[in-house]
Amino acid sequence: MDQPVLDGTPGRYWRRLPDGRIQCDVCPRYCKLHDGQRGLCFVRGRRDDGIVLTTYGRSSGFCIDPIEKKPLNHFLPGTPVLSFGTAGCNLTCKFCQNWDISKARELDRLQDRASPAAIAEAARRSGSRSVAFTYNDPVIFLEYAVDVAQACRERGIRTVAVSAGYICAEPRVEFFRHMDAANIDLKGFTDGFYKNLCSGRLDAVLETLTYLKHETEVWFEITTLLIPGENDSPAEVEALSHWVMEHLGPDVPLHFTAFHPDWKMRDKPPTPPATLRMARQIGRAAGLHYVYTGNIHDPAGQATYCHACGAVLIGRDWYDLGTWNLDGDGHCRDCGAPCAGVFEAKAGQWGRRRQPVTVAARV
Ligand code: SF4
Repeated sequence: MDQPVLDGTPGRYWRRLPDGRIQCDVCPRYCKLHDGQRGLCFVRGRRDDGIVLTTYGRSSGFCIDPIEKKPLNHFLPGTPVLSFGTAGCNLTCKFCQNWDISKARELDRLQDRASPAAIAEAARRSGSRSVAFTYNDPVIFLEYAVDVAQACRERGIRTVAVSAGYICAEPRVEFFRHMDAANIDLKGFTDGFYKNLCSGRLDAVLETLTYLKHETEVWFEITTLLIPGENDSPAEVEALSHWVMEHLGPDVPLHFTAFHPDWKMRDKPPTPPATLRMARQIGRAAGLHYVYTGNIHDPAGQATYCHACGAVLIGRDWYDLGTWNLDGDGHCRDCGAPCAGVFEAKAGQWGRRRQPVTVAARV
């Protein structure tokens, strides 16, 4: 049976194989495609002698969130970020917490059409300081994300990638050249976890983290969702924390967040708060300066502390900021030690609001 002709925008990073198939080189899955076939992410596919992106200019909806929700605790704290995603994903995590978007096969659910310029303008008009590519992984819609990022930079709006970091070396350079900040999901710290629960590879993600730290100026933080019985053993948390300390240094913030039963993993209980607090202690004991708990109410575990004198620098109650003890240059007002991150003289005042917005199309 003939494959349908795919409609989309020409994509980058692919090669023709000797057997006539075309290989997508965006992520380490290297999907090998016959004409009309889609890759595992569903949104990239082969049309004739190339790859197309079928979700360029299409979004699952726009919302203004607090930047802390990405989560980023050291990047323009307290400011609003215009957030959107598309559909599909290049990992198959059984515990996906956004599966209605990432597993979407009905592209009709992408109701909002928006050009890069329209998104950047909407961010500017709404007072958002940044635009986040989130809800699903922007690696798979690289061409769209890069164009949006360029339109944002032209208007002084920054961009944030929320990603699993599962991307090949060459597109990684282009993708992150256009980003100002990122939150990278480090889903676990064993090959078995990545292989069995995500059908991915740990080493590819560690390469992205190392690249970000040593070859870019991108501000990034790491999130690990702790799943009872899967990746929450003290030994695994300790190994992960020591790897971050050794390869990335003490200033990369690490968020341990709570799992809720979802998608194909409904047989596990939610993460007990005590597990998150234990992980935070292990991370701090490994020497990391900024380790947080997430998805639970834990003001002590979500505050930012001065690594030198221990003073609270930024207090948080969910996404509301309380204490602000940084001077205009991002130093502790008590002892003068610098806090790593991207700060302005004052904290933002967005609070915990979540505000859906409509972006005029102009595709
Ligand atoms: S981006 Fe999509 S099509 Fe390309 S290799 Fe990854 S999963 Fe396959």
